[in-house]
Amino acid sequence: MTNVDTTSAIGQQIRTVSGRTPAAGTDMEYWTATANAIVAKLADSWEKTEKTYNSGRMQHYFSAEFLMGRAMLNNLNNLGLIADTRAALENYGQDLSNVLDAEYDAALGNGGLGRLAACFLDSCATLNLPVRGYGILYRYGLFKQYFENGYQEEKPDAWMEEGYPFVIRREEEQKLVRYNDLVVRAIPYDMPITGYGTKNVNTLRLWKSEPLEDFDYNAFNSQKFTEAIVERERVNDICRVLYPNDSTFEGKVLRVRQQYFFCSASLQAIVENELKERGSLKDFAKYNCMQLNDTHPVLAIPELMRILLDEHNMTWEEAWDIVSHSFAYTNHTVLAEALETWEISIFERLFPRIMEIIYEIDNRFRSELAAAGYHPGKIDYMAPVSGNMVHMAWIACYASYSINGVAALHTEILKRDTLHDWHDIWPEKFNNKTNGVTPRRWLDLCNPRLSQLLTELIGNDSWVRDLDKLQSLESYLEDDTVLTRLNEIKAANKRDFAKWIKQRQGIEINPEAIYDVQIKRLHEYKRQLMNGLYILDLYFRIKDNPEQKFPPRVFIFGAKAAPGYVRAKAIIKLLNEIAKLVNNDPVVSQTIKVVFVENYNVSPAEHIIPAADVSEQISTAGKEASGTSNMKFMMNGALTLGTMDGANVEIAEAVGKENAYIFGALEEDLPELRRGYNPQAVAEETPGLRRVLDAFTDGTLSDEGTGIFHDLQLSLLESNGWEEADVYYVLGDFADYRETRDQMAADFYSDRRHWAQMCWKNIVESGRFSSDRTISDYAEEVWKISPSAI
Ligand SMILES: *Cc1c(COP(=O)(O)O)cnc(C)c1O
Repeated sequence: MTNVDTTSAIGQQIRTVSGRTPAAGTDMEYWTATANAIVAKLADSWEKTEKTYNSGRMQHYFSAEFLMGRAMLNNLNNLGLIADTRAALENYGQDLSNVLDAEYDAALGNGGLGRLAACFLDSCATLNLPVRGYGILYRYGLFKQYFENGYQEEKPDAWMEEGYPFVIRREEEQKLVRYNDLVVRAIPYDMPITGYGTKNVNTLRLWKSEPLEDFDYNAFNSQKFTEAIVERERVNDICRVLYPNDSTFEGKVLRVRQQYFFCSASLQAIVENELKERGSLKDFAKYNCMQLNDTHPVLAIPELMRILLDEHNMTWEEAWDIVSHSFAYTNHTVLAEALETWEISIFERLFPRIMEIIYEIDNRFRSELAAAGYHPGKIDYMAPVSGNMVHMAWIACYASYSINGVAALHTEILKRDTLHDWHDIWPEKFNNKTNGVTPRRWLDLCNPRLSQLLTELIGNDSWVRDLDKLQSLESYLEDDTVLTRLNEIKAANKRDFAKWIKQRQGIEINPEAIYDVQIKRLHEYKRQLMNGLYILDLYFRIKDNPEQKFPPRVFIFGAKAAPGYVRAKAIIKLLNEIAKLVNNDPVVSQTIKVVFVENYNVSPAEHIIPAADVSEQISTAGKEASGTSNMKFMMNGALTLGTMDGANVEIAEAVGKENAYIFGALEEDLPELRRGYNPQAVAEETPGLRRVLDAFTDGTLSDEGTGIFHDLQLSLLESNGWEEADVYYVLGDFADYRETRDQMAADFYSDRRHWAQMCWKNIVESGRFSSDRTISDYAEEVWKISPSAI
């Protein structure tokens, strides 16, 4: 498409969208018009890709979350149409960046797990792999966060109320999903997923629930308005919201309803295609496999059994043979409270037949293990049904042919602890797939200056598809011109961020200062609190020594807390109070500032990460399964300040410990360290700690008398009936954190050349953290699929 074509395509679309001449179009109308033009451009290749994939072996990626972020720039980049579109929009007096900014983030996910699914789709398309994603079209994505006097408040994220052309409703492919008390229509909305340097267009299929008949006219006509509406709303409820819950669960019945909804609809579509293509289901497992992104889609296992048994008259053995060869399960957490279990009564109420099948799976599991001589206690612990609960992870482990963790350390912990018994019996099921992130969004698009430099040095853009190519740039470690340019690029990105945050939140920051960043969901194990303790301590140190020179720094946070997670919300308030204290102090604010980016999401991440100098990855060792923001930072030349946890271990290994700042207790040492652990004593003995903890409650910081800061203080210092003191070892790791972080800041200013070298090393070694590598490994070792370019 030439610029002329693009111009006329957009001109045509803007008239359709706005019903006016192009001159009168708003940014949003131009965004919609451009999105329509993109979809039109993709249509032919998309259809062809679908046909090609449907006919061969396919992998189906089931996930309750897809944190897609914005789609337009990514699509334009993949189509090679950025310059064309910019020029076309200029013909109408429009600025591309304003138009791009009109797009809402598709925030259909909570955090890392959902963003991983989005990166995976990008890699699958780029690698021409026959993979389709399946999820839920939530009407409201993850809540919008704003601060009211430093407290987190939430409002709904109506992300597609103004229309969203990147999903296409496929009315004719709707399915019925049956619950005991309700039958609903599931309508697929398909999103095209373009890849870089390929014509293949993959699909993300998001299901929306609708009433069988849109309105019960009988009820309506007999004046029962509310009954008609109540029924309709019960159906709409299914897809109304994404649960803003990262690691615990609530809203149980509705949540289970959601999970079954998309599993059932997706499997019906897959089975239908199998019958259409092959005429029978006997080779189902040969042509299909389903990857379960955590336990949220595990209901797909009994649901496929139901379809095969009840709708296709298979025997249990035939059906189980298919099921046990077509599911693979990814575990994302070792936190016990996050392993989903549901009351039997919920299942019996929603779908008694599914519960019956689960009981049968349970029976057979118990007999199988008993026959193999396992201890009854062990069998009962591992059984799909025990107590009054259904254990989703145990069903997944039993039925799946593959079980994987998401970083080397995480997989080892699964084998050793969380899934130890499973590993004992079925070691061959276990494998590791260290997470990755897409270098398109997280480097090429979000950091055009660095991207330009890499392309220039390599001579072409091949690194965007093959990130290992960056390793060939290792030799520039000693090249002063390149190191200087790297520093200039970072400085320019930091100025951009300073402008962005000034405009967004009205705060002024020093673009010359170190940008030290922690962006991720708020959770105690991620230890944003430890970061806050450090800043508060630094505040006091600066106050005490006004004549001493401290390295200038900007501390940047971005984090949402689950609305019901009281302590996480208290930490947000605390960080905001620290920010207020620091930023309003005429002396201290000359040296340090604290910025809490409101409503952290994919788009803000794209502004923050290219500007970061320091990547805070400070979780308690053993708790973070992988982390992926650590990888995004690394690619963009920020140095990791981190514990030996999740993928940090592999980052440190890739760059060498001398090119990262590693601190803190090791996972293997923590049990012993905790045995004699006395946080009170640690608070007294560790420089800085006592004063900082006192500041929670001595009037330095205000929680408006709510007592939430006192609770935080207590959580660190004292055990109570249900919880040990300082479960996440914040105080225990503080001294090492403080020393390492001080050293890091000093190093930044003492030798900018050496700092640039460390950044460069991080960039050139980031290839193994491309999601292309992760996906190639899944494709080869688990999914057994190969590329099929159209
Ligand atoms: C990458 C990403 C995450 C995951 O961050 P972690 O630090 O790995 O927990 C969460 N949210 C958004 C918006 C992201 O882009």
